Amino acid sequence: MKECIEHIKPYVPEAPITKNSHGIRLSANESVYGTAPFVEEGLIEYIQEEMHANRYPDGNCSTLKEAIAAFHDVSIEQVTVAVGLDEMISIISRAVLTTGGEVLISQPSFAEYALQAQIEGSHLVTVPAKDNGYYDWEALVDRVTPRTQLVWLGNPNNPTGTYEKVEFIEAFIKRLPSSVVVAIDEAYIDFVTSTKEASALRLLETYDNVLILRTFSKAYGLANFRVGYMIASPSMTDYMNRIRLPYNVSGIAQRAAELALSSQVFIQGCVEANHEERNRWGKALRRYEAEYYASEANFIFFTVPYAAELVKAWHDIGYTVREGLRPNWIRLTIPREKDGDLMLGVFKQLHKQYRHEQEEI
Ligand SMILES: *Cc1c(COP(=O)(O)O)cnc(C)c1O
Repeated sequence: MKECIEHIKPYVPEAPITKNSHGIRLSANESVYGTAPFVEEGLIEYIQEEMHANRYPDGNCSTLKEAIAAFHDVSIEQVTVAVGLDEMISIISRAVLTTGGEVLISQPSFAEYALQAQIEGSHLVTVPAKDNGYYDWEALVDRVTPRTQLVWLGNPNNPTGTYEKVEFIEAFIKRLPSSVVVAIDEAYIDFVTSTKEASALRLLETYDNVLILRTFSKAYGLANFRVGYMIASPSMTDYMNRIRLPYNVSGIAQRAAELALSSQVFIQGCVEANHEERNRWGKALRRYEAEYYASEANFIFFTVPYAAELVKAWHDIGYTVREGLRPNWIRLTIPREKDGDLMLGVFKQLHKQYRHEQEEI
């Protein structure tokens, strides 16, 4: 067995949702607004009339790639489709990293970056985020060495939820050797509302070492179908294509993603609802004296002294949130309004109780 694998802790997936499951999962940043009815109807039609379960799917994802290319105004030669961004992260790591090379990541960040680097026998170089959760650009530049092969930038970052302006990302890229690949993970970019030009896509016109990553799992509400993609220079795209498995994305998943891409009105509605609820949670967190990071995503990362009790109290009324990313911190997928009402009621009560106990001491 490869020695590096001996030290790897496997990713612990979410417990499966079954017919008997009750409660609402707010721990994996899936869409709480479901999937567009238009997508569901289109899929039923696809199953009834077009699906050939016995045939391999289109190995090039031609129709989906055309739709993605048109949507972003890039060429088809710049698009790679994968089984979720998870697979894309693994493909990129395989393509770029060699044993003994270095991967640069900010801490905390999405666990797959580090996991895939370990599998390739890379050294992880981690730089703590600033106290407000944003990237520490100076510290990141300081840790670049001649062995640096790949930098991961989640934007907005998971689990901090913070969004970095594209001008800051560009300033950082300018200070790197062009041999360093910069992968910008935009899994949550649709949720950014502070600017109309949130994506770093325009950097592709200038920098061949930049990769832009997107997924249908979050805003598009298609986590179950596992579709993600990369937009990059034609030569980078060609490299990834060489090592990608030939029939990675199933036909039904390709169709689901195509349909989702043309349901922008529905997506916009989800983004706006998320924006409103995110603002409401920001206000509540200030009111309850929580420490939290400014989120532009569909989740918010925060801490209160009674975090463990809060997680339990929410669990008791049917809501599961993510803990264990940092001691005493909670990552909450922003719930729908009616669920937020119930959860904030519990929060208020625990906060009151905590204040009361503090006053007695
Ligand atoms: C959820 C998530 C992914 C993985 O998404 P899939 O397309 O479902 O594999 C990638 N990056 C980040 C930052 C995520 O939060």
